[in-house]
Amino acid sequence: MRKLPELSRRHIDHRAYPPGVAYMDGQYLPMNEAKISVLDYGFLHSDATYDVAHVWNGSFFRLQDHLDRFFRGMDELHMSIGYDKEQVTEVLRNCVALSGFRNAYVEVICTRGTSPEFSRDPRNSENRLIAFALPFGSVANEEQMEHGLHLAITDVLRIPPSSVDPTVKNYHWLDLVKGLYAAYERGADTAVLVDGKGNISEGPGFNIFAVKDGLVTTPDTSILLGVTRRTVFDICARMDLTCRSQDISVKDLRSANEVFITSTAGGIMPVTRIDGKSIGSGAIGPLYKHIRTMYWQMHDAAEHRTPVSYPVKESD
Ligand code: PLP
Repeated sequence: MRKLPELSRRHIDHRAYPPGVAYMDGQYLPMNEAKISVLDYGFLHSDATYDVAHVWNGSFFRLQDHLDRFFRGMDELHMSIGYDKEQVTEVLRNCVALSGFRNAYVEVICTRGTSPEFSRDPRNSENRLIAFALPFGSVANEEQMEHGLHLAITDVLRIPPSSVDPTVKNYHWLDLVKGLYAAYERGADTAVLVDGKGNISEGPGFNIFAVKDGLVTTPDTSILLGVTRRTVFDICARMDLTCRSQDISVKDLRSANEVFITSTAGGIMPVTRIDGKSIGSGAIGPLYKHIRTMYWQMHDAAEHRTPVSYPVKESD
C-alpha cells in the first residue's frame, strides 16, 4: 500500500521519466516537466491526433510524410494549432537538437485542449500542440529482431472505420491493449486484430505484411496508412516485386511463407510464429531480410532526410 502524502499543495514528482526534450505552450522543457492539464480533452476523451517520426544518424526520415498525415488528421478533426508545417518542423528539429539524440523517437500531438468554462462543446476548446523527442525505440526488442516475433491473431475487432477513422492517427487504443493482453495470456509477444469481416487489420503500433509465393500483401482497410508501410511499397517497386493492399484472411496469414510487421518504432520487424505455429520454415525469411536492408539503406537518400542542426559543444 502506498502512503498518502501530507496535506499540502506542493508536490514534487519523484517518478522516473525517460530522458528527452518536449515542447509545449511555447517553451522547450526537460521530459519530466512536460505535463498537461487533467482537464485537457486529449486526456479526458482521447480527443487528439498525433504522429511519430524518427531521427536516424542525425536526420529525420520522411518527415514530410508524417507532417502531411498529421495536418490532414487535424483537418479531419476540426483542429488547428496556428502553426504551419515549416514551424512544426522547426519545433521538432529543436526538440531533437536540444536532446542531443542522434537516433530519436519524435512525437507531435494536437489535443482538443481545454476551455475556461469546461465547455462540452469541442468548438470552445483551445487546441494545444505538444511535441517531444525520446531515445529511438522499437516495437520488437533485440531478441525478437534476431529470432522473430511470436504473434497472436486475436478475435478483438479493430475499432470500425465508421466509428473512428483509422487513417487519422489516434489514441483509441483500448482495442489494441485488449489484444495485447489476450496475446500475453497465450504466451505470444504481440497481437494482431481483425476487421469487421474477420480479416487481418493491424496491431498495437504496426502494420502487417504477408509474403506468399513471391507476392507481398498487406491489409487495405481498418488500418493506419503507415509511413513505413509506404516505404515497403517503394522498396517492392524497386525490387520489381508485386506488393498489393488487399483483404488478408486469418488462413492467408497462417499459410504465408513470410510475415513481417512495420512501424516507425523499429522499422521492419520479423514474425516467425503465429499462435504457437511456425511461419514458413520458422526462420527469418530471405525476402524480409532484403527489404529490411533496403529500408535502412533508404535512410541515406537525400530526398528522405531532414537534417537536425545540433548545437556546437564548447569542446567541438
Ligand atoms: N498502425 C498503428 C495503429 C500505429 O499506431 C502505427 C504507428 O504507430 C502504425 C500502424 C505504423 O505506422 P508508421 O509506419 O507510420 O509508424
